[in-house]
Amino acid sequence: MTINFKDYVADVPNFPTEGVTFRDISPLMADGEAYHAATMEIVKYAKDLGVDMVCCPEARGFLVGCPVADELGVGFAPARKAGKLPRETVSVSYDLEYGQDTLYMHKDAIKPGQKVLVADDLMATGGTVRATIDLVEKLGGIVVGTAFLIELKELNGRDKIKDYDMFTLMDY
Ligand code: IMP
Repeated sequence: MTINFKDYVADVPNFPTEGVTFRDISPLMADGEAYHAATMEIVKYAKDLGVDMVCCPEARGFLVGCPVADELGVGFAPARKAGKLPRETVSVSYDLEYGQDTLYMHKDAIKPGQKVLVADDLMATGGTVRATIDLVEKLGGIVVGTAFLIELKELNGRDKIKDYDMFTLMDY
């Protein structure tokens, strides 16, 4: 059976702010068959990249990256917001529409030379994935690919990660 993945994305107008349409993947997560099929598309993309670790930003990135890591038989490294990681960290700050945010990873989350797949549920401006890539590289990891369930094309996030291979399941 062919799955039309967009049937499992709820379009929520004016969330979180007026004029923005939020793409909500909760219906995809709620359907075991569609969720599995979606993450398997990323597994198919990644399986020949020689991935040693999957790294994703919190929180929805984990929903995508953990099943992918499990299926590939590799480890998972979380990139988290301030105050979440208990041991020594490295950090990268990045620009938001208004202001800045910072992501952190444990210093030993990636070993130098490890090949890393960076994944998230959705790429909008690309700031989050760029910061995650920068963290992996700070730790000496090699980003061999990036993967998203959704790309919001009009925001040109791709321009921020031009040098990296990229897979997207759906675009808007
Ligand atoms: P970016 O940094 O602008 O690319 O934003 C991407 C991050 O924001 C991802 O971690 C997403 O989880 C989250 N995000 C932004 N817009 C949406 C949306 O419409 N649906 C779900 N997540 C979103």
